[in-house]
Amino acid sequence: MNISAQQRNLQMEFRAFVDQFVIPSAGESDRTEKLSPEVMKKMAEKGYIGSMIAREYDGMGLDMIGLGLLNEEFGRGCSSARSLLTVHGMVALAISRWGTYEQKEQWLGRMASGEVIGAFALTEPYVGSDAKSMETSADLFEDHYVINGRKKWITMGQIADVFLIFAHCNGKPTAFLLDKHTEGFLIRPISGMMGARASMLAELRFDQCKVPKENRLGGEGSGLSHIALTCLDYGRYTIAWGCVGLGQACLEECLQYSNTRRQFGDLLSSHQLIQKMITEMVVDIKAARLLCLNAGYLKEQGDPDSIMETWNAKYFASRMINKVANDAIQIHGANGCHNSYPLERYYRDSKLNEIIEGTTQMHEILIASHASTMF
Ligand SMILES: Cc1cc2nc3c(=O)[nH]c(=O)nc-3n(C[C@H](O)[C@H](O)[C@H](O)COP(=O)(O)OP(=O)(O)OC[C@H]3O[C@@H](n4cnc5c(N)ncnc54)[C@H](O)[C@@H]3O)c2cc1C
Repeated sequence: MNISAQQRNLQMEFRAFVDQFVIPSAGESDRTEKLSPEVMKKMAEKGYIGSMIAREYDGMGLDMIGLGLLNEEFGRGCSSARSLLTVHGMVALAISRWGTYEQKEQWLGRMASGEVIGAFALTEPYVGSDAKSMETSADLFEDHYVINGRKKWITMGQIADVFLIFAHCNGKPTAFLLDKHTEGFLIRPISGMMGARASMLAELRFDQCKVPKENRLGGEGSGLSHIALTCLDYGRYTIAWGCVGLGQACLEECLQYSNTRRQFGDLLSSHQLIQKMITEMVVDIKAARLLCLNAGYLKEQGDPDSIMETWNAKYFASRMINKVANDAIQIHGANGCHNSYPLERYYRDSKLNEIIEGTTQMHEILIASHASTMF
């Protein structure tokens, strides 16, 4: 499965950008738990923040393979910067697909330029995988809804301007676009995350939040079955690609290290047990990349199987990166355990991929039940 010459050129452009601007600040972002504003500005200038938004709203309008390649390169450089692309894209895509003319006009142009950042808010303190049980409520009063409840672990919640939130409306899961300045809306930063530490997570509180009726995205009851489905499918797709990029970063570090460090009189790379780990990395990363490409091509064709193939890609890639990052530390020995090398960050970042956008177990339940319907 190959990419076109045009996609290859884009990939080179993304790679050069990540090498020049993202990688140099990734360690600092991890330590300070903040994405560098300069990097975000550069991402906006290049159009990457609006990579998934249509050209008519001044976005880059990348196709699904182009988006995959972009997320792979950002995953190679900085998981937190890749997270920004993921969640901002989830909100932008939901508005593009399900928004009214007015909602698109209000948000998409400014999201494409990076003036407005989007965050996706589904998870709550007591509700994670079982999203249908969410406790946040929205009650309709003539021309507005009153929202009460809490959300937790919201990526980019500290800096977002528009939040796509989900609440039960007469028992029906419903999506809303919430401006950060809405009265009764409180954002509390979360620090101390294990990985993707510059994802600027937040807990959100809605205390009698008054939201105009026209801020509802889609119909009442379509929140999970339509809106969140669109968002999470895109989120999984970009995360799977991000894992491929992170795997590539681990592999490149291992090749460099094992070809310079000697033990027992020989380079590490000449020891067969090290070669085994490198071999597994090479093949596992390649397999994950092919699953991602397959999902991307199906998406481009509008094939409904692309949703299931995205589950497969995210499941494989997120488990793959945990093994790859683990072996990468092993190859680096003590050096791998110290922050003078990026490996310990990669290792911490890798674990989150098995939790976000559906845990490994949720994937196992869904993939197995889908498989049982096939035969
Ligand atoms: C870095 C990070 C960023 C995040 N960003 C966002 C965001 O932007 N927006 C957002 O809405 N959320 C976000 N989340 C939350 C994330 O979506 C949830 O953590 C995830 O859905 C899992 O929910 P939970 O953590 O509550 O785990 P739980 O659902 O409580 O699950 C705990 C464990 O039990 C397992 N489990 C649960 N049910 C079953 C079952 N039926 N059978 C077998 N095992 C089961 C799970 O797989 C998991 O291992 C983020 C989380 C992290 C860590």
